[in-house]
This record gives sequence, C-alpha cells and structure tokens, in this order.
Amino acid sequence: MRRPLLLAVPVLALIAGCSPDTPPSTGATTGAPVSSAPAGPDYASWAAGRSAPVADPLYPSYGNAGVDVLHYGLELSWAPETKTLTGKATIRLRAASDLTSVRLDFSQAYTVDGVTFNGASAAGTVADNDLTVPGTVAKDAFATVVVQYHGTPVTVPMPSHRGDVEPLGLTVTKDGGLWTMQEPYGASTWYPANDHPSDKALYDIAVTVPEGWAAVASGTAKAQEGTTFRYASADPVATYLTTLAVGRYQKETAEGPRGIPVTYWFRKGVDDKLLPSLRKGPQQLAWLEQRFGPYPFASAGVVMVPSESGMETQQMITMGTPDYGTTKPAEFAKYFEDDLLHEYAHQWFGDAVGPATWKDLWLNEGWATYAQHLYANERDKITAKQWEEWARGVDSRLRGRLGPPGNPKAENFAESNVYMCPALMLHQIHKQLGDDAFFALAREWAQRHRGTSQDRASFIAFVNQQTGKDFTTLINTWLDSPTTPK
Ligand SMILES: [Zn+2]
Repeated sequence: MRRPLLLAVPVLALIAGCSPDTPPSTGATTGAPVSSAPAGPDYASWAAGRSAPVADPLYPSYGNAGVDVLHYGLELSWAPETKTLTGKATIRLRAASDLTSVRLDFSQAYTVDGVTFNGASAAGTVADNDLTVPGTVAKDAFATVVVQYHGTPVTVPMPSHRGDVEPLGLTVTKDGGLWTMQEPYGASTWYPANDHPSDKALYDIAVTVPEGWAAVASGTAKAQEGTTFRYASADPVATYLTTLAVGRYQKETAEGPRGIPVTYWFRKGVDDKLLPSLRKGPQQLAWLEQRFGPYPFASAGVVMVPSESGMETQQMITMGTPDYGTTKPAEFAKYFEDDLLHEYAHQWFGDAVGPATWKDLWLNEGWATYAQHLYANERDKITAKQWEEWARGVDSRLRGRLGPPGNPKAENFAESNVYMCPALMLHQIHKQLGDDAFFALAREWAQRHRGTSQDRASFIAFVNQQTGKDFTTLINTWLDSPTTPK
C-alpha cells in the first residue's frame, strides 16, 4: 500500500532549505509436488498454489490455518443497474490439518444460492463473516468446494487511523462501477476466501459486464469473449493482492523491459492528466530490474480507481488519486510517480515474496519505501546523508507516536512506522555493505523466495547467511526499539 500522506511534505521541505538458503521458519511453500487424487480433478496442476497457512496474531478472525487453497476459479457477473454481483467460486484446496468442515471468510451480504462439496450438494452456512461447508477431508487430501451466490457488495471497516483510511473491500460507485482496496482483509467481500497472506493460490477470474463496460482484475489478461473479461494468475497470489474494477474504462498498452506487456486502464475525462505519469511504467520497471533483478511476473499494469490510496495488487496495481496537499500539477505528478514506483517495487517485495502474517508488514513496506526514496533521491539530487538526517527525525516521531515497527498494534494497520522505520533499517545494512553487496542481497531475497511467504526469522537468517556477517542485533533493534537506534 502507498505510504501514508504525512511523509510527502518533509521531503519537499528538505529540498527547499538489498548461495544457499536457510529454510524459513514459517509459511514458506515447500515446492513439493502435490500427489494426485485417486479420481476427479487433477490437483497436481495447481501444485504451485500450495502454501503453509498459519493463524494471524493480529487478525485471528480472518484466515483458516487448516485450509490451503490451491486455486480459485471465479466466474462473476456484474449488473450496474441493480448493483448485483452474481458469482460462482470453484475452490480447489488441500487440507492442512484433518477437517470435518471447510470454513472460509465470506461476506454476509450475499445470498448463497448453492454449494457443492466434491460434486455433491452440500449445506453452506454464513455467519460472522464465515462460510462453513460440512465435509471431511483428511490432512493433505484434496477437496473441491463450489459456491454460487448473489448480492450487493458491502465493505468492512479498515483497522487503522491513517489519514487516507477507507472502508475495505469491493466498493460500488454512484454510477454503478466497482473497485476494491482490501489490505489486510476484504477479498471476502467479493468471493469466499481463505483471507490471509500465508495462503497464496492460483487464480482464474472471469467477469461479465454489460456492453460498454470493462472489467479489470489481477493476473494476466486472456482473450476477451463478448463482454466477458478473463484474467489468469499463474504465479501464487495472496487474497489481499487480488483486485477487481469495473467501469467505463479506456485502455492503453505499452511494452516493459524484456517485452513485458504493460496495460493502463483509465477513465476518460478523469485520469487523462495522469497518463504521462502512467507512461513512465516501463522506465520505472527498468529502474527496479537494474537493482532487484527481473520483474517477477508475466505482465504488469495499473487500473485507476476512485480511491485516495494506492495498492500493489499483483500484476495490476490499483491506483487512486491521493490528496498530496498540492495544486501544482508538476508537484502532484512527482508524488504520484513516487507512489507508482512504490507499488511497482512491491511486485518484488510483498507480492512475489510476501509476509507470513500481518505482524511482518514491515517486510513489505520497508523495501517498497526504501526503493521509493532511492528513486526520488536520485531524481531530486538528495544525498544519502541528507536523506538519513531527515528520515531519522521522522523515525523518531513515528516510534514515539506509534511504537516500533516490528510489533504493530491491530488497530493501527499500515501506519507510517511500518514504512519509514524499516526503510531506515535497510539503509543501515546498505551503508555497511555498499551498493554491490546490498543490491545482490536484495536481488537474491526477491528472486530466490518467489512465490513464498516469509517472516522476520527467515529474513534475518537469509541476511546473515548471504552476507557472512551477523545482522541479527541490528535488525531486531531497528524493529523493536521504542526510540531511533544510534
Ligand atoms: Zn506499500
């Protein structure tokens, strides 16, 4: 997610006056082949969606550590006049422990029209934002749950005090469009989901809309059939990194580094002024590839939505138009481009390699924020020394107000401390290692752990192993200290 607003202005004021790996402790995908079920679907074809789900320490009511979804097949249709979403979700899963029922997060806003469990009609009960389907699955065995539903989407409150805080989940616009920002949870406002970052899965999303409308989702675009738009994610995706937007969109295509297809979806007469910034996508991707290695996915893009935030949704960034507190177009463009760079950087840090639980959000935001500042500092000719001096002041105020970044409070989701404080921590490692070793470290982290979920322990073990130095105390101090470390 984009960094909270307060950080933009101080930078302006200043201008004026990251070999073999240690196995991660939790959440890493094993990569082991999934054995085939005796009959029925070929679950082995979704083996890349295999994860090691864990319970969340901050938001325990979301996610189910007993369920490992391998693949979501979503067939959706949207009727703008009646504001009705009609859906059929086909969920291929592995039991991560012995199950007597399958429980998924799902909004109570929908009427469940039918449920099957391994092809047989089953009961599906929705209560407390959970869909429960009775059915026995032994640990490591597979099952298929199909849920048909319809209704008008309803958002859920975001557990945060950020300035740009908005409700989470699928949002209906006045003119009948749709968009979503859904970190840390909110995917379950549009499909039954194991709504937790430790359970990544593959996706096929098909969305049917009326003539003249377009549907945009995370993943790589497949052939459009009539007014049905199709997207496929061949790399595992966490639920919070999926997106859906429906509107009267215009589309522009470009080519990124190594021929990566890049697509911008914008609203004519609304987002046109941002096109020059959006068109910097290939250049920003090239800048990131130089430092962090190949872009980890088959396609990239941005969909513009009526939000005040921005989100690193996988292969298709969901971008709003934030209030940067400026009326100057050039200044607005600069901040907007910084935010875009931040969301593109997340494709390496957060998307390809994600956090096992929300306690490690710093691992996403620290890297994306640091990349963003390196980019902006280079452009604005701010030295590393000037930047650190400013950043230490910000860090100190944030620790005082919000506490250290390594143990965030549940009610303060994605506040500024999990952005700037870990970015400054990465800067300390950068200073000690120098450019070559630091960017080799960053590249190896992102490239070697693609498709997995990681945590603090696995990060520290990796850094120490990769550098041959002991950064344990440095990292833990920067993550846990109530004041800015010396
Ligand atoms: Zn972010």
